Amino acid sequence: MAKYTGPACKLCRREGEKLFLKGERCFTPKCAFERRGFAPGQHGRSGGRGGRGGQGRESDYAKQLRAKQKARRIYGIYEAQFRRYYGKALKARGITGLMLLQILESRLDNVVFRLGFASSRSQARLLVTHGHFTVNGRRTDVPSMTLGAGDVITVRPGSLDATYFKELASIAETRNIPAWLSRDLSSLSGNFLRLPERPEIDGNLNEQLIVEYYSR
Ligand code: SF4
Repeated sequence: MAKYTGPACKLCRREGEKLFLKGERCFTPKCAFERRGFAPGQHGRSGGRGGRGGQGRESDYAKQLRAKQKARRIYGIYEAQFRRYYGKALKARGITGLMLLQILESRLDNVVFRLGFASSRSQARLLVTHGHFTVNGRRTDVPSMTLGAGDVITVRPGSLDATYFKELASIAETRNIPAWLSRDLSSLSGNFLRLPERPEIDGNLNEQLIVEYYSR
């Protein structure tokens, strides 16, 4: 399945909930879901998959599929890549669902977002792709790079003159970071301290349903 490249807000409307894919805009009245909280398309208002008016009971399969799609959309990942992550989580020692979420959270683009260096994961992905970050002193442009405890993420010195990064410290200051990361705004760097525990990850995700989807 190809990666969805259409308007992000449509994904929220399709899921029937806010996925917070567009940074600050998601918290303003401009949010498309606030204005049109029904699924896109002809049958959206009458209660399709994502429509609020739907009264029909979802099958187990539909619930599992929705849970998987939601996670994939939140983290912005291709189906094939997502499936690979599931395979990795399955082989790892521990609870598969939690392992999967930890893998997703350990991606460089997610960590840049969690550090408050970007307003959304999609913006973080773009910044990484443009080579604005180093990991342990080495420049990287791979958003899917998996980080681990002890890794240090820093804005590349050559990028500090860009207006975005000149203003970043004051903007990032207003964004909270999770306890599994630390941040130094004077050097625009962050440390990956440890893997997140389940309560530190989005409670709105249902990893058990995702595991069930792939175990069918
Ligand atoms: Fe979703 Fe954000 Fe768009 Fe609102 S503004 S519909 S939360 S992506």
